[in-house]
Amino acid sequence: MSISPSAARAARTSLTVDEALARILARIAPLDTTDAPLLESLGSVLAEDAIADRDVPPFRNSAMDGYAVRGADVAQGGARLTVIGSIAAGRMPEGSVGAGQAMRIMTGAPMPDGADTVVRVEDTDNGRDTVTTLRATATGTAVRKAGEDLRSGDVVVAKGAVLRAAEIGVLASIGRTRVSVVRRPNVAIVSTGDELVDVNQAPGPGQIRDANRYSLAAAVRALGCSAFELGIVRDDASDLRHALGNAAFGDLVLTSGGVSVGDHDHVKPVVDAMGSMDFWSIAIRPGRPLAFGELRTKRGAVPIFGLPGNPVSALLTFELFVRPALLKMAGHTKLQRPRATAKLLDRIEKPSGLRLFARGIYHRETGSVRTTGPQGSGILRSMSLSNCLIDIREAATTAEEGETVEVVLTDLPEDH
Ligand code: AMP
Ligand code: MG
Repeated sequence: MSISPSAARAARTSLTVDEALARILARIAPLDTTDAPLLESLGSVLAEDAIADRDVPPFRNSAMDGYAVRGADVAQGGARLTVIGSIAAGRMPEGSVGAGQAMRIMTGAPMPDGADTVVRVEDTDNGRDTVTTLRATATGTAVRKAGEDLRSGDVVVAKGAVLRAAEIGVLASIGRTRVSVVRRPNVAIVSTGDELVDVNQAPGPGQIRDANRYSLAAAVRALGCSAFELGIVRDDASDLRHALGNAAFGDLVLTSGGVSVGDHDHVKPVVDAMGSMDFWSIAIRPGRPLAFGELRTKRGAVPIFGLPGNPVSALLTFELFVRPALLKMAGHTKLQRPRATAKLLDRIEKPSGLRLFARGIYHRETGSVRTTGPQGSGILRSMSLSNCLIDIREAATTAEEGETVEVVLTDLPEDH
């Protein structure tokens, strides 16, 4: 691919990807906090320090099914002890364990007084009235101390933590039915274009199905945010004004299409009339035109992205610019996907001055990556076949076969 004059011009007058992202993030703030039922808060960012109300576990208990004994009695194998009782989980022991004695004990049952060690049932003859140990057991074996997991008064999940299954479990174990979390954005999605029909319609002459509204709504949901769709808006300024009036009830608005400088591209002037919009040419391939601004509402300014209409460009600009913005709104501080380096298995050409994000298939075992094939900005299958983006910086004009390249790992389960 040679360096076309238009690419060279774009590179001179455009923002870099990093500059555009920095400008966007500077204008995005975390949302307010909300009190959410525990399980609903999965994936949210905690907005308070969660403090243990008591020790967990609250009492000394057995880590094994076995016999609660005195360690001094079982320092050697072959000890024969009198079994004086049995303790199930959820019951309290009756009596205490003296020298030469044992109580059968189940995992999680409170340790009886006098006992400091549990001999695993597998290390005994499993006797009922008397028990014989088969091997030596060190004092303290298989006893869980009170508070060994969480100590009363400790911060056990800190403000800012992302709540995963493990944190939900910790919060449950300290008795939290509700927690304070940063609210997750509700995103309004609008497709623009006279050529678009909805998925359940057969496209007529010159028409295509609306892919972006679905891919963008799915991308929003994959982040744990909610999406509300406002359908397809014709290339008509008053229709668009009406749709954006409804969209402004969201925390963030996404439109796709109509942000170029074609005769029927109304997004920028309409948003300018309802707030303000910067139209940026970004030194990126694909996805060069991107508009970012805000709609004025009674509740304050609502950020709006005018994404390009090409389905690859729409989803790629979502990945690079909207995803970090939504994560920031939801209170996250880790906004970037993990990256890796990989050996390129094919050759990539690109214009100098533009940053290329080629859709790639990364193979972790061999540390290699290849492109998905044709990379046109209308070839959405290039996204669907990919598990990474191959990030080739502005200055390069090629990435050669065998070269080490950087990849953005887009296909990991959301780990923010
Ligand atoms: P635009 O940005 O409106 O000039 O659109 C650029 C290209 O993307 C055109 O080929 C459009 O038909 C196509 N396009 C725009 N919106 C969508 C959409 N929602 N789904 C699929 N293709 C679209
Ligand atoms: Mg259009």
